[in-house]
Amino acid sequence: MASPSGLRGRRGRAVAAALATVAVLAGLGVASGTAPTANASTARQTMACAADGFCEDFESQTGGEPTGRWSVEARDCSGTGTVTVDTAEAHSGTQSIRVDGGGGYCNHVFAGTSLTDTDLGDTVYVRFWVRHGTPLPDAHVTFAAMNDAGDADRDLRMGGQNGALQWNRESDDATLPEQSPDGVALSVPLPVDTWTCVEAQLDGAAGHVATWVDGELVEGLVADGDPTHDVDSQWLGRADWRPSLTDLRLGWESYGGDTDTLWFDDVAVGSSALGC
Ligand code: CA
Repeated sequence: MASPSGLRGRRGRAVAAALATVAVLAGLGVASGTAPTANASTARQTMACAADGFCEDFESQTGGEPTGRWSVEARDCSGTGTVTVDTAEAHSGTQSIRVDGGGGYCNHVFAGTSLTDTDLGDTVYVRFWVRHGTPLPDAHVTFAAMNDAGDADRDLRMGGQNGALQWNRESDDATLPEQSPDGVALSVPLPVDTWTCVEAQLDGAAGHVATWVDGELVEGLVADGDPTHDVDSQWLGRADWRPSLTDLRLGWESYGGDTDTLWFDDVAVGSSALGC
């Protein structure tokens, strides 16, 4: 659906709320003006879309490279990787974004969108559904990156290492969890050939991180300000880290030679919990 997030101010937000409701109802096949039959999670998503962030189901994309609030981006250098609107796989409706991620550092490729048109506060929730075909490798990879204006415009990265999900801070290469065997064991793999719901809470006031996979909090992907060996003691070595996110990019960055094919759908960003 088209994002209403460009509308500003109280009246703009009211219009945005109405548009988002119509869009969600349309997606459910419910005519505007009739009682919604949305379940609780859809209602939460609707609220978050309307209030301060955006949501995107990619159904209004017309094929080829993503357009609208999205563009194909490669921060440092690019190669064979591609991002296209896909009609073969979808979490909702009939369309998603497909990323063919190549191996090697210069295969950065992402579907990116700015967050500067949102009314987000210090705490940002990012939720997306992802499907991919190759288990997370031993080498470091990234499939979601966010420019952190609070960290000299370096990236906050979500991806994998040692076969499990991790956060990585580009500025100092800190990882969450620490990449010890005990730390990695407190994270989880990203399942293959199925849609998985990933949600992160990034608290820019406290410098905290929390991460849910299919609605379950992942112990190894939490930085709570209280250093825990194998989890966030390395991460909290930068006690002054306070994320201030200005964009969201979904795609592929491979620091080894690993490739993957990934699909993303039902992306939402807001300042309250989004759910799956
Ligand atoms: Ca979709």
